Amino acid sequence: MNEQSSRLVATRTPAPMVSPELYIDGEWRSGSETFAVHNPADGSVLWEVADATADDATAALDAAVAAQPSWRKMAPRARANLLHAAHRLMLAREADIVLAMTLESGKPLTESRAEFNLSVDFLLWFAEQVAHVHGTYADSSNGGFRIVVSHQPVGPSLLITPWNFPLLMIVRKAGAALAAGCTIVAKSAQETPLTNALFVQVLHDAGFPKGVVNLLHTSTSSAISETLMADSRLRKVSFTGSTRVGSVLLRQGAENILNCSLELGGDGPFVVLDDADVDLAVAQAVICKYRNAGQACVAANRIIVHRAVEKEFTAKFVEMVRGLKVGNGLDVVDVGPMISARQRDRLQATIADLVRGGGEVLAGGKAIDGPGYFFEPTVVRFGQRSDVMCNQELFAPVATIFAVDSVAEALAFANDSRFGLASYVFTQDLTRAVAFGEQLEFGMVGINRGIMADPAAPFGGTKASGLGREAGHDGIYEFLEKKYMAVTVGEPTERF
Ligand code: NAD
Repeated sequence: MNEQSSRLVATRTPAPMVSPELYIDGEWRSGSETFAVHNPADGSVLWEVADATADDATAALDAAVAAQPSWRKMAPRARANLLHAAHRLMLAREADIVLAMTLESGKPLTESRAEFNLSVDFLLWFAEQVAHVHGTYADSSNGGFRIVVSHQPVGPSLLITPWNFPLLMIVRKAGAALAAGCTIVAKSAQETPLTNALFVQVLHDAGFPKGVVNLLHTSTSSAISETLMADSRLRKVSFTGSTRVGSVLLRQGAENILNCSLELGGDGPFVVLDDADVDLAVAQAVICKYRNAGQACVAANRIIVHRAVEKEFTAKFVEMVRGLKVGNGLDVVDVGPMISARQRDRLQATIADLVRGGGEVLAGGKAIDGPGYFFEPTVVRFGQRSDVMCNQELFAPVATIFAVDSVAEALAFANDSRFGLASYVFTQDLTRAVAFGEQLEFGMVGINRGIMADPAAPFGGTKASGLGREAGHDGIYEFLEKKYMAVTVGEPTERF
């Protein structure tokens, strides 16, 4: 860490050391301008970070392009060793990273710790995967030559991440890209650059060669991404964020036929069938909906309950939601603030829309006076089907509940969405669960559970929720391209 590293202005706890600068070609560099990062729990300015310009973006890509040939040639085991070293350093810096996450994103410390633990597991997964990328060797269909297929890194990659899981998102992308042999330019979310800086400092200290990893913070994301994506030396963009921005990037990427992986928005149906374990469904629905103040792409967006258990489910769910403690994530709380005043104010308008669309507020429904951007954990019940429930990612501590009379109705309503990320079904009949799960038009189905992310599982969605999968056995292949060589094989000669 260089001399300009600064200490965060935190009032109640020791603050993490982290550079406020841009990381380009193996060193931290100051920018000509800065922008402020706020603590959503009290609105205070945590610090000022360097604001990258288009020239900084080009410098980062220059570095990534220059480092690409040697990074690609480095032996898989050597790349794996660097990732293992990063994993060990991350574990040693847990306290700083966890604190940074809570300060800049607002999530309770318990959730920051859970995100940290999952993130280090992902890093380990990619470290282990590096040396296990396999190819094939086969006969051509008509004989006469051999088909040799191997995998090669796509090339310099732009990684764009959101604020809601500031550590997990960059680790999941950077881990896969670096394991595959791609150099990276990571662009942090404007709200949460600190966590990204701490992670990149870990990679620096672990010994990643200069130019392999680059990090930009910016207050004008589009200027950075337009510059980089117009440059034909960039070969890949991996984006996590809203469907709106994902579709803009897909259009921009079309110009250079850029390899695109997109993890976008969700509208998760959470289906409770008539034979469900209701207590389990209630407990999992609360975690699935109110974790991260509902600001999760895989959050339960529409709770669809069979009429036979609706009364019991709703009563128990509302009681549990009313008991959730809201407050500063540094305290012992269940739900932290929303990320910004703008998001909180948007939510007040959304609640009014839901009520106009036939919703009845059973719990919460209002913003909580500041400082900080808090909102009451809210439950809105619909007596009949309302289109206002579908195709709208709430991204907030607000659950909608709707009762159905049959399994067929539950399935039709669940699938009535342009999104296809995460879905959930609760039933004690495994055959029914599998049959229902197979017909859900979603990339992921949680059966009797509300949390699914795991390094060994392919994470991603169908329809407007994205393209590609992160992690699992597929994750590394998002950053690899198949290379086919046709090999003429003659008769053995005397030399054999
Ligand atoms: P967002 O799309 O506004 O921003 C995401 C990232 O893109 C940020 O880094 C932002 O600075 C950047 N960005 C914004 N406009 C850009 C532009 N024109 N060009 C290039 N970059 C741009 O989303 P958000 O509000 O930060 O995050 C919430 C969204 O992310 C939700 O829709 C959520 O569902 C989605 N999300 C999806 C997943 C997933 O894995 N599918 C995970 C987390 C979040």
